[in-house]
Amino acid sequence: MYLERYATANLPRYTSYPPANRFGPSVDAGVYRGWLAGLDPEATLSLYVHIPFCQSLCWYCGCHTTVPNDTDRVDRYVSVLLSEIDLVADALGPRRPVANVHFGGGTPTILEPRNFLALAAALRSRFRFQPGVEFAVEVDPRGLDQARIDALAEAGVTRVSLGVQDLDPEVQRAINRVQPFDLVERAVDGLRRAGITALNADLMYGLPHQTIEHVARSARAVAGLGVDRVAVFGYAHVPWFKANQRAIDDDALPGAEQRFDQAVVAAATLDELGYDAIGFDHFARPDDPLAIAAATGRLRRNFQGYVVDPADAVIGFGASSIGSLPDGYIQNEAHLKRWADRVAVGHLPVARGVALAAEDRLRRAVIERLLCDGVVDAAEVALGQGLAVDPLLGAFEALHRLEGDGLVTLRSWTVRTTPLGRRYLRNVAACFDPALGGVAGRHSRAV
Ligand code: SF4
Repeated sequence: MYLERYATANLPRYTSYPPANRFGPSVDAGVYRGWLAGLDPEATLSLYVHIPFCQSLCWYCGCHTTVPNDTDRVDRYVSVLLSEIDLVADALGPRRPVANVHFGGGTPTILEPRNFLALAAALRSRFRFQPGVEFAVEVDPRGLDQARIDALAEAGVTRVSLGVQDLDPEVQRAINRVQPFDLVERAVDGLRRAGITALNADLMYGLPHQTIEHVARSARAVAGLGVDRVAVFGYAHVPWFKANQRAIDDDALPGAEQRFDQAVVAAATLDELGYDAIGFDHFARPDDPLAIAAATGRLRRNFQGYVVDPADAVIGFGASSIGSLPDGYIQNEAHLKRWADRVAVGHLPVARGVALAAEDRLRRAVIERLLCDGVVDAAEVALGQGLAVDPLLGAFEALHRLEGDGLVTLRSWTVRTTPLGRRYLRNVAACFDPALGGVAGRHSRAV
């Protein structure tokens, strides 16, 4: 059911708590160095490598990326990345165990195969990849040639996320991403032939000229390719923040209720095709590790969205990358030259971050469980952290209104979202975010 008050609220996606727009300069390279040195030696790490380049710019894009005009620029970036890997590994001390590696962007497959292999080799030499490590890469099917597929396989990549968004030619033209279905099909075939069989597809709703029929057709098409996971993201139109989005015709965008209907149709289509709904924007085949993690309370949420990642800390590399440690979050310089200059003089290229107080950790854990499980016992989470649950009293006052609207049921300190509330999980989570105070900020639409 479409509830305008909730669907049109602009809310964080809570891939971190506090969200990245609340990071500040008080967390600098010195603070980060202390956090790295203080990590438990047995802590398992997840490594994130950001490649901020694409062959062309999609107009809906909200990522930190740019179009490099020559390959030298990408080569130089890779050489700074290799230095940054050394810097961070030195700050960490002995080789740390790694359970998960993720290359995102941007377009990681814009890298020449030799560069991709050099980065993978550097990570393997400076960290201890555990048996069964998941090595995931975001792939743009445009430009994925055989040499790149071979490099992914040689580097030990186990999972690929394919950017698809929508398969309708008019929608593709309106977002400057023309990508016929047979190109996606060829990418899938090539990856499977190379032995990379764990495949995700990313779709979007809320794009210009998009209709529920387009969304359903795209969902059916990627399911027909047999991908294990599908993510369906709502387009976040923030042209005041992302200049490239100004190329999108506001009048061609679906309205709030149409967006909601598109999200519902995507979920219904994927459900019909045998996918389990995971959190508020992911879908997975029931035998996929993501669905199994969701069914057994082990699902996690981080900057990559919903993940099966047992790591205690995420270490980010590359311009604008974000790291998550038990003490707090850090974000690297997004400006390429400033990031490279800092690394060149041996400084960790941190721009900002946030240190977590005990209450932040409590709110972070409650929000994560809510977004992953749809239910949370806040008192149990507080007890597990040796904290009183009292700071969350205000959240429960806010939740009473959502209970009145049928989004949640409340029992003592337990919040349980209803089937209706699952559509509005971000609204439920936002009740635990005191900084929001019920007022929409510069975030994306909740649905
Ligand atoms: S959507 Fe992906 S491929 Fe398109 S510009 Fe953004 S990062 Fe690059």
